[in-house]
Amino acid sequence: MRIRRCIVGLAAAAALVASGAQAQSVGPQSTTSALPELGDGADLSAAAERRLGDRIAKALYRDPDYIDDPVTMEYVQAIWQRLLTAARQRADIAPALDDAFAWEILLGKDRSVNAFALPGGYLGLHLGLLAVVSNPDELASVLAHELTHVTQRHIPRGMGRQAAQAPWLIGAMVLGVLAASKDPNAANAAIVGGQAAAAQNQLNFSRDMEREADRIGLGVMKHAGYSPQGFVTMFEKLQDSNRFNDSGGYAYLRSHPLTTERIADMQLRVPRAEPAATLPPMPMDHALVAARARVLSNPGVDALRQWAVEMQSAKWASRPPAAQAAALYGASFAALKLRDDARSADWMAQLLQRTSNDPAAHRIARLLGAEIALARGDLVRAEQLLQGLQSSGRAALLLRAELDIRMGRADSAAQALRTWLVDQPRDALAWQSLAHANSALGRAVAAVRCEAEVNIAQLDYASAASRLRAAQDLARQVAHADPIETAVVQTRLRQVELSMREQALER
Ligand SMILES: [Zn+2]
Repeated sequence: MRIRRCIVGLAAAAALVASGAQAQSVGPQSTTSALPELGDGADLSAAAERRLGDRIAKALYRDPDYIDDPVTMEYVQAIWQRLLTAARQRADIAPALDDAFAWEILLGKDRSVNAFALPGGYLGLHLGLLAVVSNPDELASVLAHELTHVTQRHIPRGMGRQAAQAPWLIGAMVLGVLAASKDPNAANAAIVGGQAAAAQNQLNFSRDMEREADRIGLGVMKHAGYSPQGFVTMFEKLQDSNRFNDSGGYAYLRSHPLTTERIADMQLRVPRAEPAATLPPMPMDHALVAARARVLSNPGVDALRQWAVEMQSAKWASRPPAAQAAALYGASFAALKLRDDARSADWMAQLLQRTSNDPAAHRIARLLGAEIALARGDLVRAEQLLQGLQSSGRAALLLRAELDIRMGRADSAAQALRTWLVDQPRDALAWQSLAHANSALGRAVAAVRCEAEVNIAQLDYASAASRLRAAQDLARQVAHADPIETAVVQTRLRQVELSMREQALER
């Protein structure tokens, strides 16, 4: 999901739709904290904005750079949900918007430092950003800023009236710009980049919107219990990186320029940073997740080998405990990917030892240990490491399900997954796992239906419909097809066909 120009992409698309019209003015926006009326997002209703977002999200789910890594997602989700709760308590989210929008984060493997708000309450977050934030407060500051662009309806306001008149065209153009940004043909990419840059100047979030996103975002993160210093140190980090680099790694600043006004505003609102010596050390669990993000976003052999080099460096021993644990985590994970089983196991053993006094970090270490054991086929070791972690979240649930299926206990995996899916019906990975469990249990119709649910979760109704028809055919062929499952397949097919007709009507 190389969406360096995602916000730029939106702007470019809107500019193209405007087709030669004068630069669309989006500001100045009110800087008071009045909640925008639903009609305030230009002429785009919340439901229409959501449909536009769904269209874009559907394409992103299929992008090879999209990644749903349960361990990373769990960490990000914990922060995101706290921010959402705070925004609701502060009445920053209008109830109708709350119901209409997705409030969902999509992770991209890209190394660039970027996060972006998309229409309809979707947020994109690159692993590159996760790899550089030093603590949950810094990550919360970025997410709260993006969340505010969504809750204050900055996106439809920025897109202007065109978004209401031809949302499908904007959706298609956003995707076109995203695809073109990945085009290896440099000339083509340069043209798109030039258009995008020109359009950004006209239609990007206004300076007032940026300041509003900072001001309200800061309130949200404080209400959620995060340190406002995270906002300041994140600003400093972005400023520093901007000074030294223009390689596209700091795409975040292109869509949210860090103006002197923004910095001045923030200095007024947040007391001066304490001296570095008194700042709390990096939390160990955060350090491990950041190391994971670095491995996942940098999967080349040379980058993976670098982790081992780091472990052998003389400086290693003098680093703080969280940095040492992160190095062990990254080295063990990288060695797994390089199929260096012996060293992976050795570093994992050291990591388990080092994290033993930090329950949150120890849990993350054990999840990696189980992942490594499963990859090596050491089911007994995987079971030891997962012991007691079942109720600790999605990552443990999915690893446990895989273990149970491979241990011949598919029934218990299926039961746990079904319970989970009652509350999380859009969890595509859980549906995929339930499909495996059903296959292992010889329930072919149910397995194919679960595969259709994966498609539905990722908004791909055409693929879902063809799977559900396949499930129907299968049910006719099977001698003793489960009548309940057959009925579920029929109901789901009718619902999916209805969704497809609705989508077709938007064109
Ligand atoms: Zn912004």
